[in-house]
Amino acid sequence: MKVLVAVKRVIDYNVKVRVKSDKTGVETANVKMSMNPFDEIAVEEAVRLKEAGKADEIVAVSMGVTQCQETLRTAFAMGADRGIHVLTDAELQPLAVAKLLKAIIDEEKPDLVILGKQAIDDDSNQTGQMLAGLLGWPQGTFASKLDVGDGSLQVTREIDGGLETEKLTMPAIITTDLRLNEPRYASLPNIMKAKRKPIDQKAPEDYGVDIAPRLKTLKVTEPPKREGGVKVGSVDELVEKLRNEAGVI
Ligand code: AMP
Repeated sequence: MKVLVAVKRVIDYNVKVRVKSDKTGVETANVKMSMNPFDEIAVEEAVRLKEAGKADEIVAVSMGVTQCQETLRTAFAMGADRGIHVLTDAELQPLAVAKLLKAIIDEEKPDLVILGKQAIDDDSNQTGQMLAGLLGWPQGTFASKLDVGDGSLQVTREIDGGLETEKLTMPAIITTDLRLNEPRYASLPNIMKAKRKPIDQKAPEDYGVDIAPRLKTLKVTEPPKREGGVKVGSVDELVEKLRNEAGVI
């Protein structure tokens, strides 16, 4: 079984994101970038399938600037076998990423494609669903457990008030939720080995895909500053404030 994983380079989740002064987006210059955390979970799941003897090849795909190669090397150090880098400096919106992934999938013919449920920079939560739609494949989104059988798989999803388990026939699209697994730290020998794994460098034009943005960002603003709390002297005062100041009771 061949597994394809999509890995996006995003601002590291530990970084306090700053909005650009002209409100056109967030500051990315001189900011630490890393693999999208949900994509680390996707790679980890693929590697576990390989270790369990259920997958025999893991192909990692990243799209964007030159440094996406570092993201692919991180995937290699965790256990992915080879990479495809679609190089572009242009803004890639979820539909463009989904169309490019579809073109790659048409060539690579994987049995299973694992994406993150969302990229923590744009929070779109669209690419996996759009990709499944474009391919006409079944999708198991927000997976918190995966059981891969012969030609089919079971996906457990966390939904309001419980768990839902779906059976999907392969090929299929999976998007990862936080509790699917805990990604491993790459060992030093594996980081060294990752340097020798091959990356196929491509451009959007190679796939004949129109990547022009369809959505326009009007402005990006900081969330309102949190106001400081107050200490109340009594329950009566608390009730009075909740009723007359906060207006919540
Ligand atoms: P989004 O729909 O933007 O929230 O992204 C959902 C998932 O799509 C991510 O977790 C990645 O697995 C994948 N993805 C989105 N953009 C890219 C990209 N530029 N390169 C590789 N994978 C991507």
